[in-house]
Amino acid sequence: MTISKNEIQKMDREDPIREFKEKFHLPKGIIYMDGNSLGALPIATQKVISDTVSNEWGDGLITSWLDANWVNSPERIGNKIASCIGAKDGEVTVCDSTSVNLFKILVAALQINNSREVILSEQGNFPTDLYIMDGIKKLFKNKIETKIVDPKKLLDALDENVSVLLLTQVHYKTGLIKDMEKITKKAHEVGALIVWDLSHSAGSIPLDLNGCNVDFATGCGYKFLNGGPGAPAFLFAASRHHTKCVPVLSGWFGHSNPFEFTDDYFPAEDVRMFLSGTPPVLGLKALEVGVDIFCSADIEKLRDKAKKLGALFIKLLNEKCSQYEFEIISPIEDNLRGGHVSLSHKNGYAIMQAVKEKGLIGDFRAPSVLRFGITPLYMTYENIYEAIEIISKVMDSKEWDNPEYMVRAEVT
Ligand SMILES: *Cc1c(COP(=O)(O)O)cnc(C)c1O
Repeated sequence: MTISKNEIQKMDREDPIREFKEKFHLPKGIIYMDGNSLGALPIATQKVISDTVSNEWGDGLITSWLDANWVNSPERIGNKIASCIGAKDGEVTVCDSTSVNLFKILVAALQINNSREVILSEQGNFPTDLYIMDGIKKLFKNKIETKIVDPKKLLDALDENVSVLLLTQVHYKTGLIKDMEKITKKAHEVGALIVWDLSHSAGSIPLDLNGCNVDFATGCGYKFLNGGPGAPAFLFAASRHHTKCVPVLSGWFGHSNPFEFTDDYFPAEDVRMFLSGTPPVLGLKALEVGVDIFCSADIEKLRDKAKKLGALFIKLLNEKCSQYEFEIISPIEDNLRGGHVSLSHKNGYAIMQAVKEKGLIGDFRAPSVLRFGITPLYMTYENIYEAIEIISKVMDSKEWDNPEYMVRAEVT
């Protein structure tokens, strides 16, 4: 049974979180399905950034470190994020990028579990995760071993030699969600620690880090948290590890008392020890707006809408584009699919360029994946309907078959 446009519009009218869309700047004529790579701009961010620049920096100058609470922003925003991902005050901070934070927490985990040498991960993990593992191995002069196994053999490879298991919870290509509770438990059963990359999880699916007994985690601020391009990442370290950690990027902002200016380094007693240098205030301020919006939404309602949007995308694609050899590589089962739907097609790159030309923005992941982000805060059911209209038009007319669309851009 096909769904009519009227029925789809009714779904939007009855959407219990429809009002969140008004909080975002969404350019006219664009259907934005790339919020999993760069979240849309919250309208309030423009004023916050402008006030921070003009009033706090312009007029307040250095006094704003205290008067505008700049100095506490990693802690303040970290605690807000903590409250939305099942962590406690003092367990989450906001700093650097996901890549840098992966380095910090992987090394911390290796130090805690220092009778073992292996960092385990899986093939097809996000490249930065694997590259950082490789960098650590070289830094430790190959005394640390990295093992990158077929995802199907991951649990078999999890043995008494593994010091730390590094996994991404929602896969960046397929959107498959891993069972955080089950895998964390398996890791602990063999005495390994776990580091989760939550880049595609935070802001998208319900998380309960302490409920799952997670050791360490990090994730991006600029994707589903809508913190803006290059926003600082968040970093979680379970409180039980705080006394055992020795931060390796032991900069002065991670010191227990940076403004004592002592020659010796004494780390802060909580997650603040993972701060290195001076917090990037502008980036943090923008991130805070996105985090505030996310924390004010009911994550169960967000997730419920995301599942329905994704399911509608798949249903309409099957109805209108079944003859065009798209392979849906994301799980069809709603409970296993995170915040995007991915299709594989041999002409994927050109198709993505052609649909972008018509106002539908998704992204492309080599070699053949078209990725369409599902962001329930600001997407409508009608957006999905229109997106499929555009894809089917581009396929019917063969508009993608244009030499201009074959030339790869630097960012895809
Ligand atoms: C987007 C993404 C990253 C990006 O890391 P940066 O350091 O912010 O560039 C890392 N891991 C995963 C799984 C991602 O999806």
